[in-house]
Amino acid sequence: MVGICTKLQTVMDDYIPISELNDFIFCPYSIYLHNVYAGGSEDLFHATPQTLGKAAHASIDEKNYSSLKDEITGLAVYSEELGVLGKIDLYKGKEKLLKERKYLLETIYRGQIYQLWAQYFCMKEMGYEVDRLEFHSLSTNRTFPIDIPTNKDKAELLGFIDQFKKFDPSQTFQVNSNKCLHCIYCNLCDKTDSENVYS
Ligand code: SF4
Repeated sequence: MVGICTKLQTVMDDYIPISELNDFIFCPYSIYLHNVYAGGSEDLFHATPQTLGKAAHASIDEKNYSSLKDEITGLAVYSEELGVLGKIDLYKGKEKLLKERKYLLETIYRGQIYQLWAQYFCMKEMGYEVDRLEFHSLSTNRTFPIDIPTNKDKAELLGFIDQFKKFDPSQTFQVNSNKCLHCIYCNLCDKTDSENVYS
């Protein structure tokens, strides 16, 4: 049992959380800060947009959203090939549909597409059939279909994951002050003196 736990911990340490792919595009240093402060109080850095998003996902994580047998919610997934792990939001077996619901979506960013692609490859590796991908904005009831990734898309995702793994927070990088203004880690970050708009 100890051996299994140790192996699982090693896998978790080595694998990248799918949820961090979008944050890495926003600012690689935010991943470092997240890991530094992850053990502390979440109230320190979770500001309004994130709180709403988390509330929207609460029912998903508690597995109480769907009682239909055909639907799987909150399934833990991982891919050995990609070296990522995470949780899917919703899979509809009959439709072979993998869906990610967010509180509010107006535009779909590349990092969010990487996250859905990563979930897709995890599901495929685990033996699930997935023919369709989509995002759904809960507050506006709007759906955004996403194409199934091609081989070229997969190569792009693998290259991005490789950049993530090689990022060194001690190296200097270009700080984007506009992003800092909207960053939940702004008040904790040693790369800027400004305060975010949520303060
Ligand atoms: S405050 Fe700025 S530099 Fe610091 S993590 Fe956030 S976006 Fe990056």
